[in-house]
Amino acid sequence: MGLFIVPDTLIGCLWLQLASAIADFRKFRLCEGCKKPMLVAPEGSGYRTNRKTCSNACRIRLYSRRKLEARQLRDQKLSVREIAKRLGTGIEQVKRWIAER
Ligand SMILES: [Zn+2]
Repeated sequence: MGLFIVPDTLIGCLWLQLASAIADFRKFRLCEGCKKPMLVAPEGSGYRTNRKTCSNACRIRLYSRRKLEARQLRDQKLSVREIAKRLGTGIEQVKRWIAER
C-alpha cells in the first residue's frame, strides 16, 4: 500500500519532475559562513533545521563577521537597538560585542 502520483502525459511527467526537484532543493540551505549548500533535515539524515553553518570553522567565521559588523555600525553612530535589529540578535549581545574592543 502506498500513495503514488502517476502522470498520464509526458508534460505531466515533466511538471512532476520539476515539482519533485523543487521539493528536494528545499531540504538544502546555504551555509551562512561559506555559502555552500548543506542538507537540512529534521531526523538524523542532515543538519538540524535551525542550523546556520556547516562547520565549527564557519560558525566562528560568521560570529566574527557579525561582531565586526556590529562595531562598524556603532562607528556609523547607530543605536544599540538598531544594530541588534539589523543583525537579528539581542541588545545585550550587541553591547558585549561593542565593549570587547
Ligand atoms: Zn560553511
